[in-house]
Amino acid sequence: MISFEMPEKIQNELQMAQMVAQQVMRATTRKYDDQEHERPHEYVNVMWQVLREQNKRRFERMIDDDPKPEREGPNWAIVRLIAIVEMLSWGDAGMYLCTPDPLLGGAAVEAVGTREQKVRFLKKFGEGEPKWGAMAITEPGAGSDNSAIRTTAVLDEATNEWVLNGEKIFITNGRLALEESDGFCVVWATVDPQAGRAGIKSFVVEAGTPGVTVSKQEHKLGIRVSDTVSLVFKNARVPYDNILGSPEVQEKKSTRGFKGAMKTFDASRPAVAASAMGVARASLELAQEKLAEEGITVDYTRPRHEMSAYEQDLIEMEAQQKAGWLLTLKSTVKMAHGQPNRLDASMAKARAGETATFISQKAVELLGPLGYTKELLAEKWMRDAKINDIYEGTKQINTLIVARSILGYSRRELK
Ligand SMILES: Cc1cc2nc3c(=O)[nH]c(=O)nc-3n(C[C@H](O)[C@H](O)[C@H](O)COP(=O)(O)OP(=O)(O)OC[C@H]3O[C@@H](n4cnc5c(N)ncnc54)[C@H](O)[C@@H]3O)c2cc1C
Repeated sequence: MISFEMPEKIQNELQMAQMVAQQVMRATTRKYDDQEHERPHEYVNVMWQVLREQNKRRFERMIDDDPKPEREGPNWAIVRLIAIVEMLSWGDAGMYLCTPDPLLGGAAVEAVGTREQKVRFLKKFGEGEPKWGAMAITEPGAGSDNSAIRTTAVLDEATNEWVLNGEKIFITNGRLALEESDGFCVVWATVDPQAGRAGIKSFVVEAGTPGVTVSKQEHKLGIRVSDTVSLVFKNARVPYDNILGSPEVQEKKSTRGFKGAMKTFDASRPAVAASAMGVARASLELAQEKLAEEGITVDYTRPRHEMSAYEQDLIEMEAQQKAGWLLTLKSTVKMAHGQPNRLDASMAKARAGETATFISQKAVELLGPLGYTKELLAEKWMRDAKINDIYEGTKQINTLIVARSILGYSRRELK
């Protein structure tokens, strides 16, 4: 029999995460949903105390000169992270996105950065005040199709700096990373607009870089506490060594750099799936609890056709919740074993986004008018869930990746 039980160490950490989710996130969730753009200081401060110490040790190990012994068995840290993301998102998915951490930007630096870059950009996340990392890919003319990126990076040979010009939109934690802390943003830009994917490279832009401004702050349907902004780069200069991956810009025929950047998604999509499943579980549990108060519970011994409509809805929600979480775990465990997980990550992300949307909407429906009011959090979770169908590749784009992979089609053959 396959056991899905988490190791004891992870279970203990999950209990801690549940405490934060219950006592800090749920306690302030409505306040920050109502007062969009206010920062959730209670959550940020609690998390920073923990993460600063963890990051200090983690980044010291990462940049240690001594070669590390070969790891044996799976990397449990990855499984632990995904389980914690699910739990924190059960607390509040928008607030979880405000976690003071390098997040996606950090994943990019960790994946392809040199030792010097890791020291320069990540070490500060283990000291001082809270900081954030961000990742800026999307532009007014480039969303699902990343190869349409028009932000340019031109090398100024006289000063040995990259000069960035362009606009990025819908950037999570953009203001927190660049204006409200000493963080950084990984910006995708092209060094040759004619070269398509081959010309796209990523650059680390640190807080305080002249020529970078936050031009717009979004008002959103859900995850309203999360910081989502537009960024404008006007002759923003970053040192030559801030390019991630090969600085060899002559290699224009190769899409290696772009593929490297896309690899970040193999790691981030399971995390988005986990976040979606946290919202789904919160909605399902609330529906179960409120219906149980009315004497409605699922009698699993009865055939489905004899069940009430309520029960049929509840078991459908339960089944989808389990399927979505199992797919999320599969994509995570493959990653933890160092196996390719692109197909599984896209499957989990597409399925989890759909599941969270379905379950949170069903919960509002089953709870009747109460579900539609601010008495309960069901209506908030329904709004929060939808983003999981949109960012980190929309549902349609992830479904395309799955279809191409299963059918053996290239990007050109199936678009
Ligand atoms: C709250 C929020 C936070 C975000 N955070 C970030 C961030 O931190 N960094 C960042 O870079 N971006 C971020 N984004 C942007 C997000 O990743 C994009 O919105 C997403 O990639 C979709 O791109 P688009 O908006 O241009 O939509 P489009 O690409 O224009 O798509 C519009 C619709 O068409 C569909 N579609 C497009 N192409 C196809 C196709 N080939 N086949 C079938 N259907 C297709 C899409 O699925 C979608 O439904 C965020 C967005 C939001 C809303």
